[in-house]
Amino acid sequence: MRTKSAIFYKAKQPISVEETELADPRELEVLVRVEAAGACHSDYHAVDGHSTGGISPMVMGHEGAGIVEAVGPGVSAVKPGDPVVFAIRPMCGVCKYCSTSRPNLCNGIKKEPGLMIDGTSRFSKPDGSILYHGLATFSAHTVTPEWNLVKVGNDVPIERFASLGCAVVTGVGAVINTAQVKPGSTVAIWGCGGVGLNAVQGAVIAGASRVIAIDLAESKLEFARVFGATDTINASDFDPVEAVIDMTDGGADYTFEVIGSPSALRQAFDSLCAGGTACMVGVPPSNAEISIPMESLFSDRRLIGSSAGTGRPRVDFPWYIDMYMQGRLKLEQLQSNFRPLEEINEAYEDMLGGEVARTILMPQR
Ligand SMILES: [Zn+2]
Ligand SMILES: [Zn+2]
Repeated sequence: MRTKSAIFYKAKQPISVEETELADPRELEVLVRVEAAGACHSDYHAVDGHSTGGISPMVMGHEGAGIVEAVGPGVSAVKPGDPVVFAIRPMCGVCKYCSTSRPNLCNGIKKEPGLMIDGTSRFSKPDGSILYHGLATFSAHTVTPEWNLVKVGNDVPIERFASLGCAVVTGVGAVINTAQVKPGSTVAIWGCGGVGLNAVQGAVIAGASRVIAIDLAESKLEFARVFGATDTINASDFDPVEAVIDMTDGGADYTFEVIGSPSALRQAFDSLCAGGTACMVGVPPSNAEISIPMESLFSDRRLIGSSAGTGRPRVDFPWYIDMYMQGRLKLEQLQSNFRPLEEINEAYEDMLGGEVARTILMPQR
């Protein structure tokens, strides 16, 4: 079928929205009409050259929600008409990690990056040349394996759930699943983009006594307060390490780095009290390293990483939705801006300007 998709060609060049050709779903694959897709920073990492792995030309997008239009042979998880949310990691269901409640680390699916499991692509240009793709949510339609989809209810318009699969699960999940923040503890979060704001609301859900949000942009700190931050620090005005240690009477119990910055991660580690846990959530730059003082670790401090919020999408998305329906999880507030797919470059300008929590692309508009 003919559809339209946002294509990444080359770092530091505008993303191009073009007509594309989409092949039918094959075995265990699903054709989804994408209703909404979040403009996530991790898609932008290839565009700005922050991290490598930018295979091209590639149909972009990994966060989104839509409606199943057709299924290939053998699909059992969903049927046409089902509202679905995309989960960023595949879940084979049988590997060591899937079998131990850690599908975010699933290694049971062997495939080349940018291609489907059979080594081919479903997207091509009208001239027949290949387009690589992952979930390809920056497209009016996409074909994806059923193991990347979670069926959800239809009580609310599906676009409300556009960011569950990345921003929400990565941020809330890092706090609840990975670090397992305890009630009454103190939490500090570096970076208040879409994922950072969800780490903030995750800390609120976990019952943290102080939720300290740190950013360089006053507008993002404003969003952090909406999401429940009890304190904010503008790191362009204050040394965040000193400020956090001061606010928490000796260091935070948990800190989260949600930028992908080695210096911010070091600050997050240096702001811990003895026995505290620093958690890296942001996508690290390629080959980046940090050094930490061994003596700090000797006081029961921990430095851990969180991959996709240690999320279990089929378990976590339903409770997120329950919490949202009860007014205990903020989703509207995350969707500060809506744009048609054609305005994807403007969506990233919104993000870089810090004036939005998340821009949601609406490919059917
Ligand atoms: Zn993302
Ligand atoms: Zn698996």
